[in-house]
Amino acid sequence: MPGHAIDLNVGVVPQGAPIDGLIGEILDILGVGYGPLAPDSTCVIDTRARVAREGPAGMGRPNPTVYFDDFLPTDELLFSLQGRPGIITESHAEPKLSAGASRLFQSIRSHFWARDLPCVTKSYWPQDAPGCLVLTHDVDWLDYSPAHRAVMKGKAVHRYVGLLYGYAVGKRFGPNIDYIIQLETSLGVRSTFLFRNEYPSAQERLPEAIRVCRASGSEIALHAAKKSHKNPTAMVREKSDMEKAAGAPLHGLREHALKFEYDKTWRSVEGAGFAYDMTFGLNEKTGFVGGLCHPYHPVALDGVRHSFLEIPTSLMDWTVVRNGMSYKGLVSLIRQLKDSTASLNGCLCVNFHNTYVDKDLFPGIERAYRLLISECMKAGFWNATAKECAEWWTRRERCLLKASMQDGSLHIEFGDPAVRPKVYWPDGRSELWAPVREVGGR
Ligand SMILES: [Zn+2]
Repeated sequence: MPGHAIDLNVGVVPQGAPIDGLIGEILDILGVGYGPLAPDSTCVIDTRARVAREGPAGMGRPNPTVYFDDFLPTDELLFSLQGRPGIITESHAEPKLSAGASRLFQSIRSHFWARDLPCVTKSYWPQDAPGCLVLTHDVDWLDYSPAHRAVMKGKAVHRYVGLLYGYAVGKRFGPNIDYIIQLETSLGVRSTFLFRNEYPSAQERLPEAIRVCRASGSEIALHAAKKSHKNPTAMVREKSDMEKAAGAPLHGLREHALKFEYDKTWRSVEGAGFAYDMTFGLNEKTGFVGGLCHPYHPVALDGVRHSFLEIPTSLMDWTVVRNGMSYKGLVSLIRQLKDSTASLNGCLCVNFHNTYVDKDLFPGIERAYRLLISECMKAGFWNATAKECAEWWTRRERCLLKASMQDGSLHIEFGDPAVRPKVYWPDGRSELWAPVREVGGR
């Protein structure tokens, strides 16, 4: 006769909109299995704000409670998810809300451990990789010359004159797309190229550029321009024009110059049926504008979560060029980003423009791009195109997780064999749960 099963999912006390959505978003990011508060919940999530309003939420006996707002200020989180975070004063924005979410998880886990029970979550990335590396290229130009101001910046006069002379006698600085694909192939990674529908010059090169990307297995996405950041009709048109040019459906975008209008841009993205967006980022600073280093669902003004994912871009080469950052400075920034995302199992999404990954014009950027890839791969990051990252995250989010202890043994119901449960045992060990053991346990 089976004994009493102990539910290992977290019970959430209903808070009302929009707080329920915020708690759900964070628990989904953490990969924690949760459901409505039950009398025997091993760990309960509540907020101090609700308790102050309505009193304790006991169901006959007190449940060990973790207060969400001890770790994540709900106003700040809501404003971030709605695309209107507070002013960022530092030159680099740390993923501080993800750090708060991580502390929330540690507190949840401590309640399981205090009762000598394991805590089960969904692993963040395939093969339990410490982070995800998404490489993207906004293609602003299909031709380029050293006459651009950005090339001159920080260059010795003789080097700059040499580049101009080369250009004058016929050397051409092209789109670098073949070059980038070769570089990435040699390092064992793939990326996402974002194209505009219209180019100021060399428009005739677009079909070939698209062909080369498709042949290499790189993803093609939309580098939206025009008025689509505030006009849903323009967004639908831009998407369908690029789908015609690409000969395939598109899944995501980034707006040119990161044009973003609170309560407009994300509604346009949603309306056009994209799976992901990468627009909400910083132009003149680096890091995580929304404080989160994982893909997340933005929240509309009415508190409803958007269906698409925002993949937060935390480094753009243009920022580095604009700020005149040295190669050494860029390398230390890359390492800082790599370490902070890995420590939080986050996603490192970078934007290196095709024009800047150029050995002649921007040797420091090209070198740093190589270093970024090789160091992240060495650290075990999972490389994915933006589309693959969004697909994985959606799959992980939808995967059912129900864990319980029965007669002293762990039972896990899991909806998707690709997304593996991760078990944190009370003695501090953690391991991926093998599906074969799950079958054997039934
Ligand atoms: Zn652009």
